[in-house]
Amino acid sequence: MNRNCTLPLSEIKTPCFVVDLSLLRKNLAILDRVRRETGVKILLAQKAFSMFSVYGVISGILDGTCASSPHEARLGREEFGKEVTAFAAAYSEQDLKELLTTCNRIIFNSFSQWKRFREIIRNSKDVKFGLRCNPEHSEGDVEIYDPCAPKSRLGIRRADFDGESLEGITGLHMHNLCEKNSDAFARTLAVFEEKFADIIPQMQWINLGGGHHITRQDYDIDLLCRLLNEFRARWGTPEIFLEPGEAVALNTGYLVSSVLDVVHNETDIAILDTSAEAHMPDVLEMPYRPNIIGAGLPDEKKYTYRLAGHSCLAGDVIGDYSFDERLEYGSKLVFLDMAHYTMVKTNTFNGLQLPSIATWDGETGELNMIREFGYADFKSRLS
Ligand SMILES: *Cc1c(COP(=O)(O)O)cnc(C)c1O
Repeated sequence: MNRNCTLPLSEIKTPCFVVDLSLLRKNLAILDRVRRETGVKILLAQKAFSMFSVYGVISGILDGTCASSPHEARLGREEFGKEVTAFAAAYSEQDLKELLTTCNRIIFNSFSQWKRFREIIRNSKDVKFGLRCNPEHSEGDVEIYDPCAPKSRLGIRRADFDGESLEGITGLHMHNLCEKNSDAFARTLAVFEEKFADIIPQMQWINLGGGHHITRQDYDIDLLCRLLNEFRARWGTPEIFLEPGEAVALNTGYLVSSVLDVVHNETDIAILDTSAEAHMPDVLEMPYRPNIIGAGLPDEKKYTYRLAGHSCLAGDVIGDYSFDERLEYGSKLVFLDMAHYTMVKTNTFNGLQLPSIATWDGETGELNMIREFGYADFKSRLS
């Protein structure tokens, strides 16, 4: 974690997401190593990180994007280029027709969806079609992030392939990891290979999903590369894909925020110009405690505060932290690891100001304000 960030805080109007391009390039170099050592293609899962102003940096290394909707697919097509793959739990006919114009690959979540659209698809010679399978092997610790949890709607179980024709299907897809190391991938892959041993050899491409924390410091990249190379040697699959989202932008971004007020109710409570509910909803959803530069656990340092958002949601609480100095009006706080699953999830609940989006280059010291939001952005989503 980059605790010594040298962001020019006085120049940053808050709230603001700041992505450090030098750290992004570092992550990309790691992903590039996996590409070069294994020959797999790596796609950016846009659902985690859709900051299209930096797609030029990412597309210099990665092979394309994957999309969860026609809008994400179009963004990938227009702003990133290269390959676009779509997967959704279900498509409407309109979604599908639009995806046929933007995607290279479309992955279906069920045989009924695949069969429903068979006729529409028949003339789409340039698009390849795949099926998502459910390996029925859980590695997730949190059920809402576990696609293999009991009664999951995601993916086709092996038994449900029986009796179905694979004509027109050229690929298989699976995804069951979330913030995992390659040991979890090894266990999943073993189950997948055993269950789908009769189907894998019929496929031209296999997409092994995201959720690999490949760029995390303790991630075992050698094991990942070995698994991928062994998989290719065993099955001879021509094209293999990974589609990490989080790993691309892991530890590259900050959310810079200011203290608006300090109130007291049994404990000191600092109210910020950012909000867990509106700007970093995973803090409440997952939930987790984001790290802040220079802050410690409660009572670890001299002054302990509960940090809370300025929305009217009583539970808009980020967590309890301690600091060496008192917080006061105007104090700036820098939340760490705020690039992924943040900008893509913000909302304008309470009409709150959306954080602006900036880039910073830790190598050159260049700060660039990319986008600021205002009343029009709030109003345009309502009527
Ligand atoms: C969420 C998701 C990803 C990306 O997951 P990360 O944890 O961000 O790497 C990739 N593929 C599918 C199908 C997903 O649902």
